[in-house]
Amino acid sequence: MTGKQDDIAERYNKLCDLIITYNRHYYELSAPLVDDAEYDRLMRELVDIETRRPDLRRGDSPSSRVGGFASPTFSEVRHDPPMLSLGNIFSREELDDFDARCRKSGGEPAYSMELKYDGLAVEVVYEKGRLVQGSTRGNGEIGEDVTRNIATIRSLPKTLRGAPPEYLSVRGEVFMRHGEFERLNREREAGGEPPFANPRNAASGSLRQLDPEITKGRSLDVVFYAAGRVSGEPDLRDQASLFETLPSLGLPVSPQAATGPLDALVDYYAHWLEHRHELDFDIDGIVIKVNDFSLRERMGVTSKAPRWAVAWKFPAREALTELVSVDFQVGRTGIITPVANLHPINIGGVMVKRATLHNFKEVERLNVQIGDIVKVIRSGDVIPKVTAVEQKAGSADIVPPRACPSCGQPLRQEEIYLRCVNPSCESKRIESLKFFVSKDGMDMEYFGPELVMRLYRAGRLNTIADFYKITKETLLDLERMGDTLADKVLGSIDVRRRVPLSRFLQSLGIRNVGGHVAAVIAAGVRSLDALVELGVDDLMKIREVGPGVAESVHAWFHDEENRALVREMLGSGLVVEEEKAVSAAGSPVSGKTFVVTGTLSRFSRQEAEEAIRSRGGRAAGSVSGKTDYLVAGDSPGSKLDRARALGVKVLTEEDFITMIGEGGNE
Ligand code: NAD
Repeated sequence: MTGKQDDIAERYNKLCDLIITYNRHYYELSAPLVDDAEYDRLMRELVDIETRRPDLRRGDSPSSRVGGFASPTFSEVRHDPPMLSLGNIFSREELDDFDARCRKSGGEPAYSMELKYDGLAVEVVYEKGRLVQGSTRGNGEIGEDVTRNIATIRSLPKTLRGAPPEYLSVRGEVFMRHGEFERLNREREAGGEPPFANPRNAASGSLRQLDPEITKGRSLDVVFYAAGRVSGEPDLRDQASLFETLPSLGLPVSPQAATGPLDALVDYYAHWLEHRHELDFDIDGIVIKVNDFSLRERMGVTSKAPRWAVAWKFPAREALTELVSVDFQVGRTGIITPVANLHPINIGGVMVKRATLHNFKEVERLNVQIGDIVKVIRSGDVIPKVTAVEQKAGSADIVPPRACPSCGQPLRQEEIYLRCVNPSCESKRIESLKFFVSKDGMDMEYFGPELVMRLYRAGRLNTIADFYKITKETLLDLERMGDTLADKVLGSIDVRRRVPLSRFLQSLGIRNVGGHVAAVIAAGVRSLDALVELGVDDLMKIREVGPGVAESVHAWFHDEENRALVREMLGSGLVVEEEKAVSAAGSPVSGKTFVVTGTLSRFSRQEAEEAIRSRGGRAAGSVSGKTDYLVAGDSPGSKLDRARALGVKVLTEEDFITMIGEGGNE
């Protein structure tokens, strides 16, 4: 053997051992040692070597077995047939290869396109329609019995609806939504426990608890995407029919799943790569499956994964780079945010130069210093954040400023934040202007932060009231402003000249008042006239409004300058419409069944469902003949089609806000 060959053998063995160690930390301890991109890279290298040098292949190679593990602390559950993993692809070329393999086995295949939920795979068994067992994937053949834990998941039916088969095992993914992940980590940190690194680990750690009460205290969710074994005759010919059958039994499925040819896969991938941040849970790619079950039979499976399915993974969203310096940014409410300037790095196709460090408590917690190597995560259009640090010798402390970097006034420490309380601080004013036009504010489509800055510098925009005084001439005076763009900008102001109270309130950028709180307050008080007169105690009578919110709102509307601002806006043609009247007969939501789908701008899905439940309504996971209303946000997916097909009434977000406002303050 040559020296070079020895090197390959050595590298191969090292890779096997490394991956086996990483698997143990990931699956068994829910605490990965490396990020997924690094893991996938090593696995690819291992598979490459095995293809070139089959003689080196070890019997325990992690490339040929499902990576998981079943802890002996749980009883064993044998999976029949085994629960497999999925092969990964990362490019269009690899997709074409996969497609070519499918075509070889049978004609022009249609594919099922699904989101790749980043949670943990589970199997749930129903006998005569009753839940009898829930288990983790484990090593694929043997999983862990987590029946009592899984039974605490609210969206998981304990009894199936309709005409369930005698025996049904279904497979799917247990996952944790972002809101719950953040809540859980705050709670853990407050209790001195280490936070979970990501929602996947949190879901896995929460489900694999010896005490089901702990699982119950954490809100988990589940979607199903496969049947294991089914007795009786349900007509499961293909994945599309599976996605119809499961909800008819009450089993939740992903609303975003669809069926289509090869080209549709490419669009589906591109769409979710761009829009994944609009989901309130993590996905790490899409899953592509041959739709037709008889073609699946012909293609078969390997010891690790089916040949008829692959995961098309998204590019990594995290990377390591050097923290070069730190700026202090002043937000619209005066909070100072330390922002890291980074050695530029490509993360998932985008060059990243800056990342947020959130606040100085976080700087302390991460123990981060200038000159350190930091791990940066980019998620959607949210500003990238620093999540971990490798300390370097000779790095320098990040010293919190004493004075506001914008106006020079002394800063105040408020809970975990440093805040500039000078009401006329220039940075605060500019940020409020930018916020007013943003998606979370008035949502003026063609009015971006850059245009705000140009008008501000030109002296044409000083307060939010000035937006309603902008004319075409004002805009055309700016450089690089053409006629068409000016019309578009004016058009986006015009559509916001008449807005409901909730939209107006959320645009003011009052501290503690985001979209949901604004909707709740507007539903409670209905008119702007009434709102400006309310005292703190009156505000606190509105459901969900606590002292912090009540005080911020009261203080804002009792500030003379702000009152003058509101008068000026109304004088310039802004109409703030009353939120719909309170019905004496109680909320129209009461007793009705709702399904919420797509992305809402002022609520997370969970918040919308809470608003429904707190008004006596029912929030269901799937659309059926019993659904009264479908609340459809952006990218609503197949639920909207189903609702239309069944004649279910569809509500926009605004309709929904109006509806929850009716009777909402009783
Ligand atoms: P996988 O996560 O790549 O794919 C298979 C899994 O996808 C299924 O078991 C299921 O849980 C899930 N899934 C989500 N949505 C699905 C859908 N719609 N249809 C079917 N399945 C769906 O494979 P794996 O074997 O579970 O894990 C391997 C991956 O896990 C690696 O590629 C890596 O990303 C990660 N991993 C990381 C480390 C680490 O140390 N960072 C270690 C081990 C594994």
